Amino acid sequence: MTIREARIEFIKDVIKLLQFCEEKIKEGYIDYFLIGEVWRRQITQDWLLKKGWTKAKHSNHQDFRAIDLLFFKNGKQVKNTQEKLPDGRWKAAAEVEEIGNYWESLSPYNRWGGHYRSFCDVAHHERLLYKR
Ligand SMILES: [Zn+2]
Repeated sequence: MTIREARIEFIKDVIKLLQFCEEKIKEGYIDYFLIGEVWRRQITQDWLLKKGWTKAKHSNHQDFRAIDLLFFKNGKQVKNTQEKLPDGRWKAAAEVEEIGNYWESLSPYNRWGGHYRSFCDVAHHERLLYKR
């Protein structure tokens, strides 16, 4: 798969994801969501790196293959923490896992930040160039 194809497939899956989130609002699973960062400049990535808020020199946001969705549930934003549940899942990720699982079910190339091993990023939905 070329980068161009990956970007196009990413957009198709994002459209499905937004529709799925809309259904999840109707079901009462989440209150609402906001679209956060999509495309990112190198200067922003460098700044995040300097602040220690990312460890990546290059993000899939810079390559038009990532979107951040901010979820609100039970009256407040679902925020990333380093807390884990006894079963090993991130506590924050467990709150919106149905959405993250849906994203990954759309393609083996889709990865959700709530399933990262070293840190939790519930907002982050990305398209990889390789299968998970
Ligand atoms: Zn992100």
